[in-house]
Amino acid sequence: MPSLPPGQNPVPDGRQSRKAPERILITGGAGFIGSHLCRRLLGDGHEVLCLDNFSTGERGNIEELLSNRSFHLIEHDIIHPLRLEVDRIYNLACPASPVHYQRDPVRTTKVSVLGAINVLELARELKVPVLQASTSEVYGDPSVHPQVESYWGNVNPIGRRACYDEGKRCAEALFFDYHRQYGVQIKVCRLFNTYGPRMHPQDGRVVSNFLVQAMRGQPITIYGRGVQTRSFCYVDDMVEGLVRMMQTDPPVVGPVNLGNPQEFTIFELVNVILELTGSSSRIVFHPLPEDDPKQRRPDIALAQQLLGWHPCISLREGLEKTAAYFEQRLRHGAVHGFRPERGLQTARVPPSTDSGFQTTVPNSIEGGKDETRIHIFGDSDFGPCHDGVRKARGGAPDSPGACGAASGCAGAGNRAP
Ligand code: UDP
Repeated sequence: MPSLPPGQNPVPDGRQSRKAPERILITGGAGFIGSHLCRRLLGDGHEVLCLDNFSTGERGNIEELLSNRSFHLIEHDIIHPLRLEVDRIYNLACPASPVHYQRDPVRTTKVSVLGAINVLELARELKVPVLQASTSEVYGDPSVHPQVESYWGNVNPIGRRACYDEGKRCAEALFFDYHRQYGVQIKVCRLFNTYGPRMHPQDGRVVSNFLVQAMRGQPITIYGRGVQTRSFCYVDDMVEGLVRMMQTDPPVVGPVNLGNPQEFTIFELVNVILELTGSSSRIVFHPLPEDDPKQRRPDIALAQQLLGWHPCISLREGLEKTAAYFEQRLRHGAVHGFRPERGLQTARVPPSTDSGFQTTVPNSIEGGKDETRIHIFGDSDFGPCHDGVRKARGGAPDSPGACGAASGCAGAGNRAP
């Protein structure tokens, strides 16, 4: 972390909402955290380009935003290059739940590594800042506790978590190499366990599993003996941290931990959830997954110093909000086994007025085998095609030739669950 000149505030005065509106790309924008970030930045008056391939992101997460003229949905897989005119980039695209990222591990590594290259190339060309949503998983099964940014981690490079852990580590390396070699403005955040509304109820993560199991009166599945620890950050707090990091001056590049430093054993989490839901679910024990970290807690001194940030939402308060969301989904029967969404069922066809920004997507970098599709929804049109480039333009999305919160609370402190 480069030191700042004396007296320099790493976070410029005022929030982004007080600055000129910008066009901001969020990869993984239909995912759990991404969809909250979309809303936050729209609320701050920005134009948001939400890019997702719906492999784990859900259309329902951003459905209500489609009518917002400042919101544009781009269906695109980040492993393929892209060209867009934007002022900033948040790179959140990657399956993040162990169940998801281990389902197709080769692809997970590609998303992290090729995705990083593609957003970095875009940032380099446009000379715009790019923020990487990295992860506490870069610390692996940590032997330093709590985890500070200077700790290099303890990752099994050949285990089942390696696709995610090493993919994200490689992405961090790429971010810093693009910064040193090409002067790209980077911001690297390491996100610790995050939860909240719009998590998929069946994404396999501990908070969603336990809440849904408790609410349905099903057995609570503890892996191992439940003595492993995690620190759970409510999504609004996380989004606030990401936005603040993006607002920092160029010398601030990170990595910066973002997470809630209150640490709980998995057993303690079960007790809070059983008490909160009034459930009488029994507990069943399953084998601990390979390389499951025994302890995890962020040291957030750097985030406090640089961003004036720390989480405000207690575990209990956050779980109540999350439970209310799940209850609504369960009531509407919208919880089945997780099914990655493929394609989009409904389409808003962009009108023909030129919005002045471009979206170009070259064919697949894997030899054109699986051709890149790009669907853009929103009140925008996109200019003429280049050779060998499919480009979104007014008309049916698939038609040939048409190409197709802020809480702001940084001082309330953590409260007990
Ligand atoms: N876990 C559990 N029961 C579950 C799901 C997860 O005991 O039904 C444990 C898991 O073994 C890990 C912790 O909860 O120790 C957090 O798991 P999660 O998948 O949420 O994310 P991780 O922090 O491991 O990436």
